[in-house]
Amino acid sequence: MGEVENMNCIFRNPNEGVEARVKDLLSRMTLKEKVGQMTQIERRVADPVAIRDFSIGSILSAGGSGPGEKALSSDWADMVDEFQKAALQSRLGIPLIYGIDAVHGNNSVYGATIFPHNVGLGATRDADLAKKIGAVTALEVRASGIHCAFAPCVAVCRDPRWGRCYESYSEDTEIVRKMTSIITGLQGQPTQLHPKGYPFVAGRNNVIACAKHFVGDGGTEKGLNEGNTISSYNDLERIHMAPYLDCISQGVSTVMATFSSWNGRKVHGEHHVLTEILKEKLGFQGFVISDWQGIDHLSQPYGSNYRHCISSSVNAGIDMVMVPFRYEEFVEDLIFLVESGEILMSRIDDAVERILRVKFVAGLFEYPFTDRSLLDIVGCKVHRDLAREAVRKSLVLLKNGKDPGRPFLPLDRKAKRILVAGTHADDLGYQCGGWTGTWHGTSGRITIGTTILEAIKQAVGDNAEVIYEENPSADTLARQDISFAVVAVGEEPYAEFTGDNSELVIPLNGNHIISSVADTIPTLVILISGRPLVLEPQLLEKIEALVAAWLPGSEGGGIADVIFGDFDFEGKLPVTWFKRVDQLPMHVGENSYDPLYPLGFGLKCNIRNTFKPARLHS
Ligand code: BGC
Repeated sequence: MGEVENMNCIFRNPNEGVEARVKDLLSRMTLKEKVGQMTQIERRVADPVAIRDFSIGSILSAGGSGPGEKALSSDWADMVDEFQKAALQSRLGIPLIYGIDAVHGNNSVYGATIFPHNVGLGATRDADLAKKIGAVTALEVRASGIHCAFAPCVAVCRDPRWGRCYESYSEDTEIVRKMTSIITGLQGQPTQLHPKGYPFVAGRNNVIACAKHFVGDGGTEKGLNEGNTISSYNDLERIHMAPYLDCISQGVSTVMATFSSWNGRKVHGEHHVLTEILKEKLGFQGFVISDWQGIDHLSQPYGSNYRHCISSSVNAGIDMVMVPFRYEEFVEDLIFLVESGEILMSRIDDAVERILRVKFVAGLFEYPFTDRSLLDIVGCKVHRDLAREAVRKSLVLLKNGKDPGRPFLPLDRKAKRILVAGTHADDLGYQCGGWTGTWHGTSGRITIGTTILEAIKQAVGDNAEVIYEENPSADTLARQDISFAVVAVGEEPYAEFTGDNSELVIPLNGNHIISSVADTIPTLVILISGRPLVLEPQLLEKIEALVAAWLPGSEGGGIADVIFGDFDFEGKLPVTWFKRVDQLPMHVGENSYDPLYPLGFGLKCNIRNTFKPARLHS
């Protein structure tokens, strides 16, 4: 611990008010220490000596970069605690914030509970569920020693060609607003908000949340990632900014700036947007963090005039910079800019106060290390049951029976022989999508969970024989003794720009697999995707039933629960299902609105059930 460990100073005293502690600590800091607090570095360059000597404010693990492949929560906790020890050895012993993209559960950690991606949660319209998911995610993140989740993404995705469509709850602002309740789950009850409205984190069982990406990330032209959102101020406010009001009223601690531009200007350099609107007009009191190398985008080629990038972004209102690698240069240049008067000391003090306030309120000074008693709850049954409930509620039934008078679902679990097929029927990685295990996501047994095939086998037990062939052979398709087929196809995992797509056809030969199976066997298609995909009319006619399952995560059991009729369908489309990509972008209320299935569409099977939602740990 730093030199003031035993000093009887105000900032070390938890009984002092947050403001008094912030002021006291700030008054003791050198410029270099202040700048260090404004610096967030990536784990791969985080060496203990640098953390200590630079008084680094925060570390992140990007895209799953952690202590090793398939590392468990305990491995993560060991790693984070080592970094924290180094931070506490700095002169003033200021704890660091460790951050991670826990965007659908603690998705970088092997064995964590993986929830449906946001688009699926948007289909549930269930704010209470989102809140519970936030609370469980917080516990599993804290069990790994991590204090901050870069979530939720409250983008309002206006064009499914965007590779981050699945990170958005909906194209509809009101649905996104509703689902921001996840913040209360992540951070703790807003009723306990500090009287002055400071961001609130209850302590050891909660995490610092981060609403992202301010603002207009989901409105870019042609859905281009990091593109340009062209709109009037009123539209920006009405469509994209409104969810931030809900985040702020729940005391969200941090907000991440968007890579994208508004009317041609990069938001990372916009004082009007980050300071006048976010901090002054909306009253945001936490700290604004840049996106990954986001400030570098302020010069061409990226990062070439680094001092310009730093002064524009810090003066615009960025408080902490996700540097994430060139931190020595960042610190040196920022000090130079302050000493030469290009950035005022008052701006630095404001940024550091905001960061320290979040750290004090989060209890980091009192509880800097992992509470190991949490390790047992990672991926426990209670958490998986909640994820399974979320999967059930997220499923949207788009078609049920060729003849509407003769519904095809629910399936008969006593049918003698069932064919399960498709690229996504037995692939946990595909089910989870991007931001799982790795940044991009990948195919295969990337974590612990249940695939659709496994869930179907569990659901039918000994009643039926389940035949599984990814792409069924002609012999199988010619069999007369198969009662029905379940074909799961969809998108391969992707993240950010790697998912930008102007075609939106079902990849991996999906149409062919569906078509060949449905030619001879009555078929239910389960689409695993982060967004609507083109559904050819001939194909739609051929199949008996169609379910949009989004990116459901680790608990495939939720799909079996509903298709076999233990529970009814509850999901409603969170996004418009277009007919052809040349219709995009297309929104409710516009004259040209001519969807295949409109926003809000979702059939039911009219099943009654008596399910009681899971009770979480008290
Ligand atoms: C993404 C953010 C993410 C950050 C850190 C960026 O590329 O835009 O959403 O939080 O990386 O991983």
